This record gives sequence, C-alpha cells and structure tokens, in this order.
Amino acid sequence: MDILRLVVQQWDRFDGLVHGFLGRGGGRSQPPYASLNLSYENGDDTQTVTQNWCDLKLAVGLHDFNVVTAKQVHGDTILRVSSGTGKRVGVGDGLMTDATNVFVGVMAADCVPLLFLESERRIVAAVHAGWRGTAAGIAATAIARLKEDYQIDPSALHVAMGPSIGPCCYQVGLEVAEQIGANWKEEMRGAWLPEGAKGRLDLRAINDAQLVAVGVPRRQIQQLGLCTACNVEKFFSYRKEGKTGSQLSFIGWLP
Ligand SMILES: [Zn+2]
Repeated sequence: MDILRLVVQQWDRFDGLVHGFLGRGGGRSQPPYASLNLSYENGDDTQTVTQNWCDLKLAVGLHDFNVVTAKQVHGDTILRVSSGTGKRVGVGDGLMTDATNVFVGVMAADCVPLLFLESERRIVAAVHAGWRGTAAGIAATAIARLKEDYQIDPSALHVAMGPSIGPCCYQVGLEVAEQIGANWKEEMRGAWLPEGAKGRLDLRAINDAQLVAVGVPRRQIQQLGLCTACNVEKFFSYRKEGKTGSQLSFIGWLP
C-alpha cells in the first residue's frame, strides 16, 4: 500500500512549501500499529518506527531534512524550533519555526492536526488539538505566539485542519462541553450537539471558530480529510481501535 498524503490544494501556489496530512498505509509496523506509525511513544517497536520515518522522508523528498516533533501531552505549549534543534524537542503540543530547512510535525489518532503558514517570511507551525487542547485554546495560543515571536499578523496566516474524529463518532460527556464552553462559549455554538446527558462534539468546527475569533480570515482556513473513526482502513483512530498508531502531519519550506 502506498503512503496516503493529503495536501491543501489552495497551497499549491506557495513555491517551496512541503506539507502533508498522512494516513496509516504504506508503513512497516505490525498490528495494532499497522502500518505507518511514526510515534515512539505508544509501544511500537523502535527500529520499525525509525524505518517508517526513513521511508516516509524518502517518499516526500525530505530525506536530508529534520522533521521535528515533540512529546505531546494534550496541553497548550507551543515550542519554538530553530535550525539547530534536533529531531525531538521537549514537551508540547505545537511547534513553530522560521527556519527554511526545518520541518515541524505533530502526531494524531482522532485529535485535530492543524498546519499554519505565513508565505512572505516563510513561517510555519504544526499543532495537535484534542478536546483538552481545544478547551485550553491551543490554536489561538499558536496565533498569539506567532504574533509575539515573529510579529506575524493573524490576517496573514493560512491554516488547514486534517483528518480527525468527526461529530458522527465523537460522543462525549457534558463536562467536556462545559470545560470548552468556559473559555469559548460563543465558539461552541454549532460545534456542540446535545443528546441527553451527553452530546456530540465537532472539534474542527470549534477550532475553526477559535481561529476566526483571533483574527484569521475564514477564507484562509481549510478543512480536509475524513472522520478518522469512520475510516480506520485509512487512518489510525484511538476512539475506534484503542491501542493503535499515530499518523503524522507536517509542514515546512525548502531552503
Ligand atoms: Zn465518524
């Protein structure tokens, strides 16, 4: 099976940009990690994961570059990455860089992967937002950090959200809605569909609303890919499968 890589069509015009939201096919890991698991944190065989990384980087033309990832903990920390940073950098659920020879990536298996870019100064970020990160407003935090560290106005940013669990499959308790609603009441409108003592949450809709709330023009926000839980033949889904692998989403500029 080939590697499945979804790209944002609207970003074709950005010369030198390399990005992708990957699926689970085309790797070497055995079940329950079959097959393109790129996380070292879930119990998969380390050597196999390293081989998957090598295969992937060759397939997307990045063999000579670092794709930097972090230890993700469902928080809202955004790490700043430079050209001297190694392949792994600290603990955080978002990474950003202004280096044109460095790529940043996040892992997900239901949570929303978000990729950010600014095309003039060639700045990128990658963020992982599950419900906890969404409640903490990690997408908005990323926008604030890009503004603070690189003086990037939110109106200059393009953002894309990749395959993640849809409201079709994401039933959660009221306490989850309350925690998100505590900070993002307006943004919860349309993203929460109550069903008695529980409800269905649309994680991408609320992240979209958070981005708009902090100044990213809606026409510059894209959503692509299917519900991970509805499509386990293509994507890893923690909710559907329990112990499983993680798919990578990555972005950066060639020098
Ligand atoms: Zn679904």
